[in-house]
Amino acid sequence: MADGLAQRATGSHGSMQLTPKDYKSDVENTWCPGCGDFGVLSALYQTFAKLQIPQKDLLIVSGIGCSGRLPVFVSSYSFHVVHGRALPVALGAKMGNPDLHVVVVGGDGDAYGIGGGHIPHVARRNSNLTYIVMDNSTYGLTKGQVSPTSPRGKKSGSTPYGSYEEPINPIAMAITYGASFVARAFSGKLQEMVDIYSKAMQHPGFSIINTLSPCVTFYNTYKDWAAATQPLPADYDKTDKMKALEWAFRTDKLWTGIFYQQERQTFEDAIHATVEKAEKAGHRVLQEIMAKFD
Ligand code: SF4
Repeated sequence: MADGLAQRATGSHGSMQLTPKDYKSDVENTWCPGCGDFGVLSALYQTFAKLQIPQKDLLIVSGIGCSGRLPVFVSSYSFHVVHGRALPVALGAKMGNPDLHVVVVGGDGDAYGIGGGHIPHVARRNSNLTYIVMDNSTYGLTKGQVSPTSPRGKKSGSTPYGSYEEPINPIAMAITYGASFVARAFSGKLQEMVDIYSKAMQHPGFSIINTLSPCVTFYNTYKDWAAATQPLPADYDKTDKMKALEWAFRTDKLWTGIFYQQERQTFEDAIHATVEKAEKAGHRVLQEIMAKFD
C-alpha cells in the first residue's frame, strides 16, 4: 500500500472525515482542457467522499482510451488493463475480495466495441460492480474515428463519406442483458452525476451508467447534449422493465437518471451460498485441491 493511501485510509472506520480532495492523486492530468471526463472525475471524487469510502477499500479498473487514464488521478488502488478487458479483471477482483468497492471506467469504444462481449455476462450474473462508461461517441485517443455509439452519417477520418452503421442503444442493451441498475448521466451536470453514482455504488448488484462525456477536441457534442438532456419525470417508475425499454428508445430528449433498478441476488452472494451448500453436503473438492498446494 502506498504511504498516502495508508495514512488517509480512515473514512467511516476512523475519526477523520474524507473530503473530495482526499481522493485526488498527485498525477498531472493530461486530458484536453474542457474534456467531459473532467466532470466525471470530479463527480467520482465527490461520490467517494459522500459515501466515505476508505481509499484502501476502493479499486478502480479501466481499459484503454482517454477515459482509461482516470484511475491514475484517484488516490486508491487501480488496475489499468488491456483494451476491453476491464470487466473480467474487476469481476475477478470482486470475487477474490468481496469487501472491496470496485468501480470500472472506460469509454464507449472500450465498453461497447472491444469489450462489448463481457457486458451481458457480468450483467446477467449481477456481480456487485459499478461500471461508468464515458460515452463521447468517438475514439478520442486515436483522433476521432467512429465508435459503436456514433450516429449514422457521422464523418470522421475512418468514414470520410459518413458512417453507414446504426449506433447501439446502451440503455436498452444493458436492460435486455439483465443489468439490475441502468442509468444515463451527462458530464455537464455534476450534482446529478453524484446522485446517480452514489446510488449505483450503494446498489447491491451490477450497475451501469452511460455517462455522456463530450470529446471537445475531435467530436464536440457539448452544446447539443447540454440542450437535449433532461431528467426523467419525478413520477417515473424505475422498477417497470418494459416501460424502461420504452423510455430508452425515446428520441425526443436524452433522458437522464435511473431507467431501471431491480433487487436480486448478487453473483458473490450466490457463490457464497453455493460453497456453504456444498460444505454442508460434505463436498470439499475445493479444499482438497487447495490442500495439495499447502
Ligand atoms: Fe478528452 Fe477527446 Fe481530448 Fe481525449 S481527445 S482527452 S476524449 S477531449
